[in-house]
Formats: sequence, structure tokens, C-alpha cells
Amino acid sequence: MPQANAPLEAVDRAQVLRQRIEDANYRYHVLDEPDIADAEYDRLMRELEALENEYADLASDDSPTRRVGARARGGFAEVVHAVPMLSLGNAFEQDGDTDREKYREVADFERRIEQTLHRRQPEFSVEPKLDGLAISLTYENGVFVQGATRGDGAVGEDVTANLRTVKAIPLRLRGEGWPRLIEVRGEVIMPRAAFEAFNERARAAGEKPLANPRNGAAGSLRQLDPAVTAKRPLAFFAYAVGRVEGGELPDTHSATLARLREWGFPVSPEVSKAKGFDGLLAYFRRIGEKRDSLPYDIDGVVYKLDDYAGQREMGFVSRAPRWAIAHKYPAQEQETTVEAIEIQIGRTGAATPVARLAPVQVAGVTVTNATLHNADQVARLDVRVGDTVIVRRAGDVIPEVARVVEAERPAGTVPWKMPATCPVCHSELLREEGAAAYRCSGGLICAAQRKEALIHFASRRAMDIDGLGDRFVDALVEFDMVHTPADLYALTVDSFVRMKTQADERDGSTPETVRQGKVATKWAENLVDAIEASKRSTLPRFLFALGIMHIGESTAKTLAGWLGSLEHVRHTPAPVLRVLPDIGDEVATSIAAFFEQEGNQKVVDALLAAGIVFADEGAPSPKLRDRLGLDVLLDAAKVPKLGPKSTGILARNYASLDALVKAGEHQWIVAGVPQAAATNLAAYLGDPDRMAELREADEAMRRLAAALPAKAASALPLEGLTYVITGTMETLKRDDATERLESLGAKVAGSVSKKTTGVFAGEAAGSKLDKATELGVPVHSEADLVALLTEHGVAP
Ligand SMILES: [Zn+2]
Repeated sequence: MPQANAPLEAVDRAQVLRQRIEDANYRYHVLDEPDIADAEYDRLMRELEALENEYADLASDDSPTRRVGARARGGFAEVVHAVPMLSLGNAFEQDGDTDREKYREVADFERRIEQTLHRRQPEFSVEPKLDGLAISLTYENGVFVQGATRGDGAVGEDVTANLRTVKAIPLRLRGEGWPRLIEVRGEVIMPRAAFEAFNERARAAGEKPLANPRNGAAGSLRQLDPAVTAKRPLAFFAYAVGRVEGGELPDTHSATLARLREWGFPVSPEVSKAKGFDGLLAYFRRIGEKRDSLPYDIDGVVYKLDDYAGQREMGFVSRAPRWAIAHKYPAQEQETTVEAIEIQIGRTGAATPVARLAPVQVAGVTVTNATLHNADQVARLDVRVGDTVIVRRAGDVIPEVARVVEAERPAGTVPWKMPATCPVCHSELLREEGAAAYRCSGGLICAAQRKEALIHFASRRAMDIDGLGDRFVDALVEFDMVHTPADLYALTVDSFVRMKTQADERDGSTPETVRQGKVATKWAENLVDAIEASKRSTLPRFLFALGIMHIGESTAKTLAGWLGSLEHVRHTPAPVLRVLPDIGDEVATSIAAFFEQEGNQKVVDALLAAGIVFADEGAPSPKLRDRLGLDVLLDAAKVPKLGPKSTGILARNYASLDALVKAGEHQWIVAGVPQAAATNLAAYLGDPDRMAELREADEAMRRLAAALPAKAASALPLEGLTYVITGTMETLKRDDATERLESLGAKVAGSVSKKTTGVFAGEAAGSKLDKATELGVPVHSEADLVALLTEHGVAP
């Protein structure tokens, strides 16, 4: 029995709870910025309910336990619900040994119906409880006329225009027999995949991601501009009927849902029927097992007494019907604390911040780590070590930190910063320009990137080590036989046989012949031969094989063609690389940063020591001569107000960087450089770091200039000609043909234009051949190509 007079501490506690719940409601419904986890909200609400039940004088009409949601926020007209949109009572798991103890609230609910209606094993319509926004849709003569949110249950917001953009909602009913006026109720949800895609885009664009799919649905529906709602992929499922005029519905809930489906409303495919307590629990468990694989979030299942006559007899108690209850699953969001923020390095070097958490149960799984996605996301959330955070885990998605409970931040925390070096190999972590991602620059030595680096190194377009596929690389790395690509060259037939034996033992797949002592070694001999053969390579292939970020085959060719030798490539700083064609700031920085890592340089040395040679090394391109010089260096420095005219004057007046520095500001002005530019340059050169950079670049330019051939080399035989290769060749692969033609100075293009010198057409040549005929470009056969290559000494 409730007691009349509550003790003072209970009065105070109720007051605290009400304030906390109202604050949470406001943040959730009005600001769309929830700050506590659902589970925490439920706990507060249940504690308050328990207090109010215990002490009658604590109950009051303005208690948050008496409302369903929050009031409408400004911007939408109000809609009064003719039949109130009430919410259901919730049942949670409790301590206990038997099902009836653990699910006491469900057992009580079912028993009350049995006793009131004098029915054994009553029949229920059962359905998943979708985690979205409850809405009501009114149809007059089969036409959608008004849509509203639930609001506080009595008054909602008119969101008709926004609901019209939700494709799952019928604007006109199908079939026949609908009442003149019918109000259909259901849930607008954001499917998980749409939510993930939306957030991925938001994070990439540096925008605020959605906290969870339910907030995604609610926030989208309550946009003041329906065009914004239209861009969000929302779904809808119907689950109830409100007001009905001028027509009849079936006399059970399940038959009504079937009718709604006929009229064009989506109804959850998981809707079913169940009998008695055991039937309800079986359904609860069945859907619970499917929960992670459903395409949308659910937070429980709902049991509704199926027949309307029974529902009327059961009636309501305070705000909830006595004929229906929501049976909740463990929450997908929980609060916990951040013990550390660490960096995880992915297979390709991407650095992802991960929060190490005090262990917490989220939706039935113990979570100790949660992704923070990237440095921008950490900054946006302002997650700090020591913070209380809300962790979210739904479906198969990796748990993530959804938000921080700022009210619980301890004193003395500091904003998190991305570390400067890789936690695995201690190479520098570099931020990709314009992207949120950081990467480890130690591609050749980083254990986290080892497999990927080896697979790339051995691939056909790189060092082309035939037979060294993913499986062998996995085993070599796993058994610690190879740390860097250079280690491949020390492998022997014995090492491969040992690797295979170990792998077979691990998998329990040792062949019978091996047990009998007959070990096949031919495959290992072939592999060792393939590794040996890869030593005779070309510079572009080798540069590509190193796996430097942003360095594809074409950039590798540019580097090799312009700089001539590996020595120059590996010792040229970014400002000088930048003068090469098609190499922008980002690419130049990436190449230079790669070779700045001592570990990477050591691996390159080891590869050369293993005997890798390039047939095509030589002097830098004579064309480089025009791109070297003091003026180019100063242009790259981007000193404010120091334009190309001024840098030209300086380059003509001073033979070297040293001479320029020695002359000083006054002399530059005398030479014709404007005062402001000269002052800026003096300030620039006064900065020791910048001066060191400039000096390094100057030295690299001098090295290159000294290595240039004395006079322009004679042009290559096919210089200035452009060919297109199409169709399938019999004697040589297209890549191969391209490489040979390019070695003779020709360009090989991907499409035919008026400028094309000729087209080499193999078997089954298609549109490119048609285009050549159309433009009058000469078409040659494969035999012509072979003849051309033979003539110039590069026969296939
Ligand atoms: Zn690393």
C-alpha cells in the first residue's frame, strides 16, 4: 500500500530525479542533443516511478512519469490527437532463477489478463518495438491529409509536409473498403545502413554526425525544410489505428494489421501471434536472436492482446493500456568511462583513434574498446581520457563512442591530441591533405602494414614475383620469417618448405605423402627462381613496389624519367620534387616523407644489397634544366608579395643561395625588388628552419644540375608519336607493349583522338577501332607492332 507521507530524503530524491529527467527530455526532444544513455534514462524513470508508487503524496500531475514525450518545439502547428497517443509500460529483465522471476512484469501482465477476462492462455499479437519516432497519419476518403508527431500524447506537431517525402508512407490508399476517415499510427525509422552511410559522409565532410538512428529519424522529420527531410532515407512501419469514422475494422489487432498491409501500409515482417506467457517469451527470444541482423534498430518487442473486445475490457491505468506492454532488450547504448585513447594502425597505414573503456555490457556483449573514427571526430566530440561517455553498439557495427556526458567530466582533463609517431614502428604519422585521416609513413617497416606491403611489393605490376600470393605472404608474416620486402631475397627452398610444413601442421592438413617423407619442392624452387628473377627490374616498377602513398605507376614513371636514378629520387626533398610535371604538394610531401623515415631507407639499402638492379637508370632528363634554379626555389617558398618578376631578378643577380643571403635586403631593393617583397624575404630567410629547408632544396638542385648530361641527348626514335593499343594481343600483353613503346619515347594513350599517330588493334577490338576509322587514324595489326618493336631493338 502507498504510504501517505514521504520522508524528506525521498522528497529530495524525487525532485532531483524529475529535474534530471526533464533536462534529458529537453536535450533529447528539443535540442536533438541527448546527453545520457537510454539505459540511464530508463533507470532514472523507474526509480522515480517506484518512489511515486511508494509515497502517494509524491505523485503529481506535472511529474515526468505522467508524460509521454515532450512538448512541440516552435515552427510546427499543433495537432490535437482525438484519441490520445499513449505509450506502453515497459518490462525489463530482473534478477531471478526462473523465467517467471526474471520476467516478472511480463508474467504479471499476462496473469492479470487471464484473471480479469477469465481466459486461459490468451492470444496476443506480437511485434518488434522499433526505435524511431511515433507518428499518426490521417486519411480522408483514402487520401493522406495530415501527419503528426506523438508530441506529449495529447498534442503533437503537424509534420505533414515532411511525411509526404517519406516514400514508405502511402499518399493514397490501395485496395478498397477503407473507412471514410482513418488514422493510422506507426513508427518512422532510419534504417541502420542509411544511418551509417549518412554518418560516414558527415564525418568525411567534417559535419556533425547523427547520435543514433532514432535521433536521425526524429531530427529528419522535424526539419523545418521538407527538402532536407527528403534527402534522408527514412522508412515507416504501421502498427496501430487511432480514430476511425464511417467504416468498420476487423475485430482483432492482427487482422487489422493484415488489412493495413492490403491498403498499402508497410507492416513489419516480424509481426506474429503468440499464446500465453510461454508464447510471449519464445517470441521475445526469437526476435532477440535476430536483433543484430535486422536492418533497423529495435529496443524490444510489444505484446498486444489481440481481440479488441478484450482490450476494451482491460482498459487503461494512468497513462498506459493494461492490454499491451513493451518487453525491452538490453540497451544498445550504455555509459562508461574512457581509460585511454590509443591509435590503431590499419593494414594500409591508416591511423584510427580507439577508446579503451571500463568494461560495460552493451546489448548483451561486453565492450572494452570503441572506435572514435578519426582525429576530427575526437575533436568534435571532445572526448578526453577520464570522460564518461555513451557507447553505442548496434548490429554488427563496431561499437562507437556516440557522445560525452560533459556534466560528469572530472577536473584536470585535457583535450586529446593525435600523437606524432606510429605506436607500432615509431615512424611519423602524417595527415593526408584535405582528409580526416592520418597515416603511418613507415610503409616498409611497420608491422601493422607488413602483409599489405609485401603483397603489393610482389604484385604483377610491381616486382612481379610469380607465385607469391596472399596465402604465402600471410604464412611468412605469421611465422615471423619476413619483416620487410628485403627479407624475401634471403629465403631459400628450405625456408619455403619449412613454412609449408608449419602451415600444414597449424591447419592439420599435412598431406599423406609428406607424412611418408616425400616432400615436394618443385613449387619452392619455382618461387625462389621467381624471387631471383625479380632482381632484374626497372626503376619505375621498383618505385611503385615500395608502396609509397599516392605513388601509382604513372607517378613512378615520372620520377624515374625525370630524375634518372634511385639515388636522386630517394634524396630529393619535397620542394624540388614539386617542380616535376603532375607532382603536386601532396604527392611531393608523401614521397619525401617516405624517404625521410630512416627505417624505409634502410630497407631500400637492403634491397639494393640483395642485388636488385635497374636496367634503365641514367642521368636526369635534360628537360629538367629549365626547372632548376634559384628563382624556382624562391617561387616554391611562396614568400608573400615575392612574385615571379622579383624571383627572376634575384636569380639573374645572384649565382647561389649563399650569394643572395650575403647581399641582403638593401642590395635586393637596389637590384629592383620592391621594398615589401624584400622585407618579407629577409624575414623568411631569417627563420632558421625555413633557411635549412631552402638550403637542403638548393643542394638537391645542385646535385641534379651537376648530373645533367653535358648537352641535350639525342631524341628517342619514337619521340612525339602517340599510339593507342586495343583488343587482345597474342604475343604480348598490353602492359608489356606499352612499356616497350614508351621506352622508345612514344606516348601510349587510352583513347583515340585526332592527334593519335596510329592504333594497334588485336583480337576483338571494339569502339576504339571504330573511332579510329571515323577519324581517319591509321590502324595497324599486332604483326606491325611486333615489327616496329623489333626494328628498334625491343622485340617481345
Ligand atoms: Zn607504423
